[in-house]
Amino acid sequence: MNRAARRAAAARMQGRRTGYLHRILAARTSGAMPIHGVHHVAVEHVRGCAIFSGQGCSCTPNLTVAGPNGVIVIDEHGIGRKMAKQ
Ligand SMILES: [Zn+2]
Repeated sequence: MNRAARRAAAARMQGRRTGYLHRILAARTSGAMPIHGVHHVAVEHVRGCAIFSGQGCSCTPNLTVAGPNGVIVIDEHGIGRKMAKQ
């Protein structure tokens, strides 16, 4: 088992699901992320994530969505939280 597979297994053991598309979809269906408008989604994978070796994501990356209504941080459950302006 390589490092990426070990990280994915550790995430599953902790009850976390790896990847990020399901979290973006959850944020959209919950209304945390507006449906209309252009949004920029930043996905920050951890060092050692399998996506850097051409495989599927094996981490739980940080997700930030920037759009016309501000910036939203999506947690590991797909729940969006609006960031306060600085
Ligand atoms: Zn990843």
